[in-house]
Amino acid sequence: MQTLSWQAQLANLMTDIDELCAYVGLESTVIKARYQLPKKFALKVPHAFADKMTQSPNDPLLLQILPTQDELKVQAGFVLDPLAEYEHNPKKGLLHKYQSRVLVTLTGACAVHCRYCFRQHFDYQDNLPNQKDLADICQYIANDEQIGEVILSGGDPLSVSNRRLAMWLRALAAVPNIHTIRLHTRLPVVLPDRIDEELLTIFAHCSKKLVMVLHINHPQEIDDYFANYCAKLVQAGVILLNQSVLLKGINDDVEVLAQLSGKLFAYHIMPYYLHMLDKVAGAGHFWVDEYQAVQLYWALMQKVAGYLVPKLVQELPYQLHKTPVDIYKYQRMQ
Ligand SMILES: *Cc1c(COP(=O)(O)O)cnc(C)c1O
Repeated sequence: MQTLSWQAQLANLMTDIDELCAYVGLESTVIKARYQLPKKFALKVPHAFADKMTQSPNDPLLLQILPTQDELKVQAGFVLDPLAEYEHNPKKGLLHKYQSRVLVTLTGACAVHCRYCFRQHFDYQDNLPNQKDLADICQYIANDEQIGEVILSGGDPLSVSNRRLAMWLRALAAVPNIHTIRLHTRLPVVLPDRIDEELLTIFAHCSKKLVMVLHINHPQEIDDYFANYCAKLVQAGVILLNQSVLLKGINDDVEVLAQLSGKLFAYHIMPYYLHMLDKVAGAGHFWVDEYQAVQLYWALMQKVAGYLVPKLVQELPYQLHKTPVDIYKYQRMQ
């Protein structure tokens, strides 16, 4: 447990490999043999996330945030903008790709740099919406009756202040055709204290349905401290879902996926998506191929209740929805 306020924790993220090794108690010669100081997208991790790591050099939480020499390997098909998002950017800060929902990149900031992040090369500079853009975005949504849901994303939408978030929620909730506001966030997992009383009050008073899609990849990310905040979110009327990314060496194992689903459910979080990795430059070493992904998926279906099986999907740049992986393309291995 951290003693600082969430703001202080956010201002005091670990960005130095020696500090991380010392904090977790990692063997620094072993770690530094693999480490590579990135030119962009530096090491960044909150102490509260490091608290959940073990001292193993192959700890599944460590592997998600440790910049390694593997990132320098150029791999065919792994590109800077894997989702071709620039093509669906009608207003500053707004992505409108799918029919009934739009996505706002509220901020470029995030508390953690996951090495497989598909927006790690995204140019947020010219795409961060200010107060005037908020009005523009609300107008844009009001003009399109088909839009019913707004997704606040980033970066991480919970890395902004409560004041700014409340302003956005208030403005969006005033648009009549919006029935649901969704937040895609990893902050509650990597920096649980972000869920402070003020935020819970803001959520509890929001007049629209609130959905929070968390991003948890491994059962070890879930502990009682985090779970306590989940209970508070549920009490405030927030629906909790989870999306994971299938990552080689981290969760490409049926036992791990089954445990993750079980633990999520125990804390009121429904498994939503299991994403194939987006082919972003520098993340090739996390790739799990489709055949193996499908075999894992069959095995997971055999193991857990149907409602604990997330949808196995991929994001294809020119599809206007997430695309289910075709599990019947392959022979099922027993
Ligand atoms: C993933 C995504 C959404 C949300 O899709 P759902 O299937 O509704 O979860 C919306 N807009 C964009 C641009 C996305 O990438």
